[in-house]
Amino acid sequence: MAVVRAGAAELGFAEVAPAWRLRSQQFPSKVGGRPAWLGEAGLPGPAELACSLCGRPLAFVLQLYAPLPGRADAFHRGLFLFCCRAPPCCAGLRVFRNQLPRKNDFYSHEPPSEDPPPETGESVRLQLQSGAQLCRVCGCLGPKTCSRCRQAHYCSKDHQAVDWRCGHKQACRQAGNVDNTIPDHNFLFPEFEIVIETEDEITPEVSEKEDEPEIIGSMGEAPAEELESMAKHESREDKIFQEFKNKIALEPEQILRYGRGLAPIWISGENVPQEEDIPDCPCGAKRIFEFQVMPQLLNYLKADRLGKSVDWGVLAVYTCAESCSRATGYTEEFVWKQDVTDTP
Ligand SMILES: [Zn+2]
Ligand SMILES: [Zn+2]
Ligand SMILES: [Zn+2]
Ligand SMILES: [Zn+2]
Repeated sequence: MAVVRAGAAELGFAEVAPAWRLRSQQFPSKVGGRPAWLGEAGLPGPAELACSLCGRPLAFVLQLYAPLPGRADAFHRGLFLFCCRAPPCCAGLRVFRNQLPRKNDFYSHEPPSEDPPPETGESVRLQLQSGAQLCRVCGCLGPKTCSRCRQAHYCSKDHQAVDWRCGHKQACRQAGNVDNTIPDHNFLFPEFEIVIETEDEITPEVSEKEDEPEIIGSMGEAPAEELESMAKHESREDKIFQEFKNKIALEPEQILRYGRGLAPIWISGENVPQEEDIPDCPCGAKRIFEFQVMPQLLNYLKADRLGKSVDWGVLAVYTCAESCSRATGYTEEFVWKQDVTDTP
C-alpha cells in the first residue's frame, strides 16, 4: 500500500513487485496491467473508456492510491489514468477518481496484511463481487458476451476481435476452458508497483548558463523587434527546460510527481494551461493540480514497439478541489498534456 499524502511533493518510482501486492485488496499504486479497481460500483463503462478522438478502447496507464486525511468519505481514494494506444491516434487521455469511506461494501475495516495472502489460484480477476463481468483484454467493464460460448466477456467489439485472434477462437469450443486461458493480447502496458518517496528538498546546483553566443553578420530583413522577441522566447524556453532538468536531476528515474494543490513543473513554456483551460468540476468547485506523469514513464511502458506510439512531455492531472462525493462510483477528472517542444 503506497499511500500518497497531500501536502509535500512526493515522487513516484516504478518497481517490479509480486502480483499480490498489486491487487485491489492492497490498495496499490501501480503502472500498467489491468486496473485494480477500488470501489466496485459505478465503474466507468465502455463509452467513458473509449478514446474521445478515435473511439478505440483506452489502455490503463496507472493508478494512484491517494486518500485524503481528515475526510471520512475519502478514507480510500484512487485516481485512474487511461490513454489511447491505438495507432495512428495514440492521443486520447482520460482520468477517473473514486473514493470510499472506511466502512464500505468492498473492503475490511482493517488495513491489509503486509504478507502475501494464501494463493487462490486466481490470476486475473474477471468478475466483480456484484457479478458484473470484466473484459478479458483490458479488465474494464465487459457488458458484451461471446455469443458462442457465452463465457467470455468484453468491453467492445474491438477487444472481442483481439481475443479471438489471440486464441479464443480455439478456447471458445472447449467449454469451461475459457477463464484460465488468457493470452497476452499485446494490449496492456507492463505492470509495476509505484513506490512513493518524499522529494529531497536539497536542489542541485543550478549550473550558470554560459553567455549567449554573439550573432555575427547581417540580420537580413527581419525587424529588430521580431528578432528580439524570438530570442527572448527561445531563452525563456531554454530556461523552463533547464529548470525542469534541474528539478529532476537528483532523482532522474521519477515517473511521477504528486502534490495536491502544488504547482506542476512544466517541460516547456508552450502549451501551459491558463486557469480558464482547466474546467471546473461538475459539482461547481474548481479543479486543482494533483499529480503529474513524467516522460520517464514512457521508458517503462515500452509503448514504442508498435511504431507510432503514446508520447508526452508532461501529463498534469487536475481533480476537484472539494474531491466531491456527489456521485457514487467513478468521477471523471481532467488531464492536460504538454508535449516536449522541438523549438531549437
Ligand atoms: Zn485514440
Ligand atoms: Zn476491453
Ligand atoms: Zn466464445
Ligand atoms: Zn467536484
